[in-house]
Amino acid sequence: MSEIQRHSFDVLVIGAGGAGLRAAIESRLAGKKTAIISKSLFGKAHTVMAEGGAAAAMGNVNSKDNWKVHFRDTMRGGKFLNHFRMAELHAKEAPQRIWELETYGALFDRTKDGKISQRNFGGHEYPRLAHVGDRTGLELIRTLQQKIVSLQQDDKKNSGSYEAKLQVFAETTITELMLDGDRVAGAFGYRRDNGEFLLFEAPAVILATGGVGKSFKVTSNSWEYTGDGHALALRAGGSLVNMEFVQFHPTGMVWPPSVKGILVTESVRGDGGVLRNSDGKRFMFDYIPDVFKAQYADNEAEADRWYDDQENNRRPPELLPRDEVARSINSEVKAGRGSPRGGVFLDVSTRLKPEEIIKRLPSMHHQFKELADVDITKEPMEVGPTCHYVMGGVEVDPDTQQSKVAGLFAAGEVSGGMHGSNRLGGNSLSDLLVFGKRAGEHASKYLDALDERPRVSDADSATVAAAAEAVLVAELPDDAEDPYALQAELQQVMNDLVGIIRRAGELEEALVKLDDLKKRVKNVKAIGGRAYNPGWHLALDLRNMVIVSECIAKAALERSESRGGHTREDAPGMDPSWRKVNLVCTLPGPDVALKRQPLPSMPEELLALFERSELAKYMTNEELERYDAAVS
Ligand code: FAD
Repeated sequence: MSEIQRHSFDVLVIGAGGAGLRAAIESRLAGKKTAIISKSLFGKAHTVMAEGGAAAAMGNVNSKDNWKVHFRDTMRGGKFLNHFRMAELHAKEAPQRIWELETYGALFDRTKDGKISQRNFGGHEYPRLAHVGDRTGLELIRTLQQKIVSLQQDDKKNSGSYEAKLQVFAETTITELMLDGDRVAGAFGYRRDNGEFLLFEAPAVILATGGVGKSFKVTSNSWEYTGDGHALALRAGGSLVNMEFVQFHPTGMVWPPSVKGILVTESVRGDGGVLRNSDGKRFMFDYIPDVFKAQYADNEAEADRWYDDQENNRRPPELLPRDEVARSINSEVKAGRGSPRGGVFLDVSTRLKPEEIIKRLPSMHHQFKELADVDITKEPMEVGPTCHYVMGGVEVDPDTQQSKVAGLFAAGEVSGGMHGSNRLGGNSLSDLLVFGKRAGEHASKYLDALDERPRVSDADSATVAAAAEAVLVAELPDDAEDPYALQAELQQVMNDLVGIIRRAGELEEALVKLDDLKKRVKNVKAIGGRAYNPGWHLALDLRNMVIVSECIAKAALERSESRGGHTREDAPGMDPSWRKVNLVCTLPGPDVALKRQPLPSMPEELLALFERSELAKYMTNEELERYDAAVS
């Protein structure tokens, strides 16, 4: 039997992006012995790649902004499918979390009068994104890591060891959660370099593993985003909500092929960039949906005036929520009005002076110059939709972030509910701060209330270790499946059949193919041992990718309407009766089970924040009667 190193902690945080780090800080501040596990290098997570900023209604640039406006924008962006309580907590607490980052040492860009500067972004009524050029995520991670180091320095002073209360395990992948009865008891994983097996016993586990983008062929996501946390929660008895909603960011690079999908930040449009087709037409004016007509300019003159006078003009349609812009670009390309390399043109060079572009968008300038030999101060970029973010995730209690499994919490992109059918840009960085903190706090409280710590049995850890090792062979058998080939097949299926525009027949075809892939994953083999073996790593990740893809495809087939990040060509438009329904996935056996669950209904004081005419675009008559009663 393989040797397994045992570790014991109070709180285990899986993931070292913003959500994981913020959660770990909170549980350490509560005095809990905390471990942070990260599949990649410490400091390398999607959070570090975030460019545009973190949305928080601080009202620094427009004093009319407040939590109520942010709440309304978030609900609108999610097409009213968001869990109202998460959207409420997020809007109320985001400013505090940003100011708190300053006390940890963050240096945001400033307004002329010295406040934290805030920029425009799609779907946000006022300039709201706190930012550091187009490298906001880097500052966020730097600051959170600095806070962790300072806490470790305190621990060294008090107890003689930097790792007495906070220990980081970088380049370590968790493959399974461990249970004691129906409570979580820890997690099992391996070190990616030498393959050592590790067992972490912990009564409280926080999933902060980010997204699922690597199941799609064209994506802004990097290699480690294989839906691990989503799948870990499912296998432990948890549930996933909203999995049909996948965000295709409208602007990814389309060329050269080696970098296809890499993100082009929304800040380019927020700072004045416009989208044009091959005829030079600014086409977004043709795609303003009825529900947004009151807020968006229908002509170029008004859209351009908005950059200088936001009080008296409506916003440019390039700043519609991401799902709308992505679909519009898709339609232009399909209609034969795309750019030479299959995207559309995004131009900031005719809108801002070169020195201003380099100051505001340094990473974009560098990215296009280095990767595509395009100077964005002189010429337009070519861009197209790319799989970017998953709205769906672990179903959690909105206040505590606890999942259906006792002791298992989730925060950040891996959790579901907050963004409904579509996330607004900038709302992820604030989401992970708000709910990361809450997860750390409530994991600690859960621990305080425990009578007896759960235990992981030796037999259970040996079984999990054996399953991980079973993939390894000295020689490939004839029927062995290659992990890289299988991943490429999966990505093609998801791209072609479960992508930005969906149809029932194609989703059914996808499910047949996914079923086949699920069977073949059992035969995936990797030659060699556990040390330095990326084929083995991918083989283990594939189990997660296939199961999460099944959730996405099943939910997408079931939801026969189009809403946010789920567009059904055969069921266009929103259906108010679907607004009352969440689709929830569980894993009772080898196949994903899907059930319809009523959406929690918004309390009257929140309903009353909206105009009746707006709610009428989304809600059933029965729901509107509640509204009438609330405001009368
Ligand atoms: P992540 O930051 O993704 O971190 C996940 C962590 O989990 C990583 O440490 C990873 O190694 C670890 N992990 C995963 N699986 C395992 C496992 N099995 N075992 C151990 N560890 C594991 N959002 C905004 O709000 N504003 C922006 O401007 C913005 N720009 C973006 C730009 C890009 C290019 C991308 C890709 C995303 C952007 N987003 C933005 C989205 C946002 O960055 C992410 O949604 C957010 O950072 C997710 O944070 P997280 O803490 O939930 O997870």
